[in-house]
Amino acid sequence: MRVTSTAAVAASREVPDADGVRRPGGEVHAWLPGQNQTLCGLPLSRTRLRRFPHVPFDYSGIDVLTEADPEGWVCPRCLAATSGRRDREKGWVRTNPRP
Ligand SMILES: [Zn+2]
Repeated sequence: MRVTSTAAVAASREVPDADGVRRPGGEVHAWLPGQNQTLCGLPLSRTRLRRFPHVPFDYSGIDVLTEADPEGWVCPRCLAATSGRRDREKGWVRTNPRP
């Protein structure tokens, strides 16, 4: 699939932010508006992923999510699909030490 920079977010949860704008939470995938599946091939209808066409998928490998972020997991395959220049084997690692 040809991947452009227009990938948006599809996620398993939605969380209102301080301004009342929906933002993705839970499991986060990349999604191209107009498609009915994520970049990694999950069908949106069957996986019940919510679409966030207003949220660009810009979770690069250098981003670090904290406890304050509702996003709990970013799909490494979608990350790889949107960041071809990166080391695919490295992927995305959540640095969130637990007690
Ligand atoms: Zn994915």
